[in-house]
Amino acid sequence: MKNIMFIAPPAAGKGTQADLVEKKYHIPHISTGDILREISKEDTEIGNYIYETLASGNLVKDEITYKLIENRITEEDCKEGFIIDGFPRTYEQALKYDEILKKIGLELGYVFIIDIDEKKLEKRITGRRICENCHAVYNINEENSKPKIESVCDICGGKLYQRKDDNIDSFQNRYKTYLKKTAPMIEHYNKQGILYHLDGNLEMNEIFNKISSIIGGE
Ligand code: AMP
Repeated sequence: MKNIMFIAPPAAGKGTQADLVEKKYHIPHISTGDILREISKEDTEIGNYIYETLASGNLVKDEITYKLIENRITEEDCKEGFIIDGFPRTYEQALKYDEILKKIGLELGYVFIIDIDEKKLEKRITGRRICENCHAVYNINEENSKPKIESVCDICGGKLYQRKDDNIDSFQNRYKTYLKKTAPMIEHYNKQGILYHLDGNLEMNEIFNKISSIIGGE
């Protein structure tokens, strides 16, 4: 199985698609955002730094993300392939990622980019709710994505929470950063012929069907 990368603006559904790929193809979903959110709970110097950075919508220092990516993708469960979500986020990170992969003898694989309207993202950001127990994602602004009982996870009964950075101010900062920093990175992958565009305005299952048809019978 080739490795898979997702690139998308905040709340475009990359985490959801990555989870679907994980379930169908049995390869781990590595989200730098999730890993950083876990570290941000620690009352340590690095935990506090990450907590503040995430809340502002700015990017965490490269040396931190590089170390956690390299450590994670060299773990045993990544041997048959993995899904990377949230990294790289800049051209510099993309170059560093090439270097890390080369060092450990791995290939990039498929790069999926989700294109979606900004207005739709704003609506999603304010409605996104996440289960603190199983991390399932809901959206209270979308009929087909609402939990059955308010603030309760349909799957495990866990409590739903709103991410600290899921507000309009932080979204605008994250979205601006995304547009500015990812454009050169996208060109880098386009030139290699491994970039696939997905229409993020479609329904979740339609997007996933497109991904499956590209990955094919692997
Ligand atoms: P996400 O869950 O992908 O939306 O990421 C949430 C936040 O984690 C971002 O707004 C950044 O502050 C931080 N983050 C995630 N991935 C990276 C990365 N590759 N480089 C720097 N910061 C990151």
